Amino acid sequence: MSFGIPILDNLYPATMDLWPIQAKEFNKVFPFYENLKQGRFTTTKCKDCGHVMFPPRGVICPECYSENLEYIDLPTKGKVLIFTEEVKGVPLGYESPLIHAVIDLGVEPCRRMITKIVNCPAGVLKRGDEVQLSVFEVPPTPIEKGRAGTIMAERVFFAFEPVKK
Ligand SMILES: [Zn+2]
Repeated sequence: MSFGIPILDNLYPATMDLWPIQAKEFNKVFPFYENLKQGRFTTTKCKDCGHVMFPPRGVICPECYSENLEYIDLPTKGKVLIFTEEVKGVPLGYESPLIHAVIDLGVEPCRRMITKIVNCPAGVLKRGDEVQLSVFEVPPTPIEKGRAGTIMAERVFFAFEPVKK
């Protein structure tokens, strides 16, 4: 079982973990990940002043300091504004091509959101292309669960992928 970078398994006692711990005992924005597992892309909205923030906040509204936050759905489709493609020399733990894009989901605060683009060969993506949310599993992480001992917590993360034409 892999806890970090798969190609380094069995070479070192531990490798760098690229992904956030998502269990509710350790992460105040755990609903974001729970929603992702259901294919929903969500963030927090302040019920007092209406401010919508991304990424989601776990405790207080950055505008009015209210603790009265709720999760709302964001669009799961957007358009590519600009992007970069790394084909050679991608960092350890990543696959080529490594594509990062600024995309527009059509609503604030996600009119200029940086994301990774997956399931896309090199040289194919263009400005203006439509992309959609892609949720994928990442290596589970061991967490302490009191008397239950150590359990392996499943984790997910998100990127965007081209919409098939
Ligand atoms: Zn507020």
